[in-house]
Amino acid sequence: MVLFWFRRDLRLHDNSALSHALASGQPVLPLFIFDSDILTKLSDPHDARITFIHQTLTSLHQQLEQRGSTLLVRHGRPLEVMAQLLQEYPLQEVYTNRDYEPYARLRDSEVTKQLLGKGIAFRGYKDQVIFEQDEILTKGGTPYKVYTPYKNAWKSAFTESMATPYPSEEQLHGLQPHPATTLPTLADIGFAAAEIPTPSPSLSETVLRQYDKTRNLPALDATSRLSPHLRFGTVSVRQAVQLALQHNDTWLQELIWREFFMQLLFHFPESAEESFAQKFRHIDWRSNEKEFQLWCDGKTGFPLVDAGMRELNATGFMHNRVRMVVASFLVKDLLIDWRWGEAYFAGKLLDYEQASNVGNWQWAAGTGADAQPYFRIFNPDSQVKKFDKDHRYIKRWVPEFGTSAYPAPMVDHAEARDRALAAYKKSIAYTL
Ligand SMILES: Cc1cc2nc3c(=O)[nH]c(=O)nc-3n(C[C@H](O)[C@H](O)[C@H](O)COP(=O)(O)OP(=O)(O)OC[C@H]3O[C@@H](n4cnc5c(N)ncnc54)[C@H](O)[C@@H]3O)c2cc1C
Repeated sequence: MVLFWFRRDLRLHDNSALSHALASGQPVLPLFIFDSDILTKLSDPHDARITFIHQTLTSLHQQLEQRGSTLLVRHGRPLEVMAQLLQEYPLQEVYTNRDYEPYARLRDSEVTKQLLGKGIAFRGYKDQVIFEQDEILTKGGTPYKVYTPYKNAWKSAFTESMATPYPSEEQLHGLQPHPATTLPTLADIGFAAAEIPTPSPSLSETVLRQYDKTRNLPALDATSRLSPHLRFGTVSVRQAVQLALQHNDTWLQELIWREFFMQLLFHFPESAEESFAQKFRHIDWRSNEKEFQLWCDGKTGFPLVDAGMRELNATGFMHNRVRMVVASFLVKDLLIDWRWGEAYFAGKLLDYEQASNVGNWQWAAGTGADAQPYFRIFNPDSQVKKFDKDHRYIKRWVPEFGTSAYPAPMVDHAEARDRALAAYKKSIAYTL
C-alpha cells in the first residue's frame, strides 16, 4: 500500500503525484494533515483559509468514499502523524507533490529522513508550477533575478505538452478500499467557520479576452480570482496555462510572475526576512504603530488606500492595482517597514502565498530583486484619476467618502515623498 499526501493540490483531477501513485500498481491511500505547526501560528479562529480547506476536504472525502476508499484527515505535527500512520498501515512508499516554501522544504526533508530510516521512499513530483526553480536558469546556470529575461526564457522553453493534464481522475480505481472514516470538524482543530466565502474562479472567455484592457480597473470584476485556487490547488496550473494560451498573453505573463517569484524565494529564502537589495538594508524605518493601525483599518484619508484595506479586511481579497497602491503608501508615504505590511497581508489574504507576497511587497518597496525603482513613488491621487476616476470602487468600500465623516489625509504626500527619498538615499550612502 502507498500513501498519497495532499498538501497544496486539493483536487482529484490533473494531479501529478496522485497520478504517479495510482500508476505504481499498488493501492493508494489518500491523506491530509492539518499541520499543527502551521495552525498554531494563525491568530484568527475564523480564518477563512481554514474554512476553505475544510470545505474542500469534505468534498474530496465524499468523492473518495463514493469510490469505496477514504480520505484520512489527521491533525498534528507531520512527523508525529507519519510515525503513527507507519504503525497503523503497511506503507511501502509515500507520494506527494513538491512544495517549495522554506518551511515546507524543511518539513519534507525531515519526513524524508524519517521514512528512509524505515526503508520507505518519499517520492516528490512537480505539480504546482510549469517550471521548477532549476529548470529556467541563465546561460551561466544561475537563477534569474529579473522578470523579463526570465519570462522570455520561460516562454522559449515551454511546449504545449507541458500543460497536458495528468489522468489521475481516470485512475481512481487504484485507490485502497477502506472503511469510512470521519473528518475532524473545524472545532476539533481549534477553528470556527468563517463568514467569508471563497469565490469560485471566473475563467470565462469574456473575462480572459478582455483582461489586458480591464485588469487595472478595480471597480470591474475583470480579473480571474484564480489566486486562492492556485494557492490550494483546487485548479491546476496546467489548466490555467492552457486557458492563457488560448485567450490572453498578458494573463499568461501574470502566471509567469507567480513562477518567477517562486524560483526567487527558493534560491534566496533569506529574502522572506530581509530586503533583497543590500543597499536598502539600512533604511531608518519610522514604523509608527498608530499610523500602521490607521492603514490596517482603512482610515488614512487616502480613499483608494482605504478602499483597498477595507476590501481586504471584509473579503480576504484585494485587487492587484490596489495592492500596489496600499503597499507603496505604507512603505513610502508612512515609511513603515515592508515586513509589517507583508505580515498583515499574510494574516488576511485568502490567496496568501509566501513567494508572491514577499516578492510583490519587495517590488513595491523598491527593495526587491526586480523592483519598482525606489524613487518612483505612487501618487495616491493620480492613481485614483487613472484607475477609479468615477470613484465606483472607492464608494463601494468607503461609503462616507466625500462627506465630513471621512478623515483628512494623514500625511502630506509631497512631504512624505521627500522624506522617503531621503531615507532611501541615506541607506544607499551607508552601504557604499
Ligand atoms: C503587495 C502585494 C502582495 C501580493 N500578495 C500575493 C499573495 O500573497 N498571493 C498571490 O497569489 N498573489 C499576491 N499578489 C499578486 C496579485 O495581486 C494577485 O495574485 C492577484 O490580485 C490575484 O487576483 P486574480 O486571481 O484575479 O489575478 P489575475 O489578475 O487574474 O492573475 C491570474 C493569476 O496570475 C498570478 N498573478 C497575478 N499577478 C501576480 C503578481 N503580481 N505576482 C505573482 N503572481 C501573480 C496569480 O496566481 C493570479 O491568480 C500580491 C500583489 C501585491 C502588489
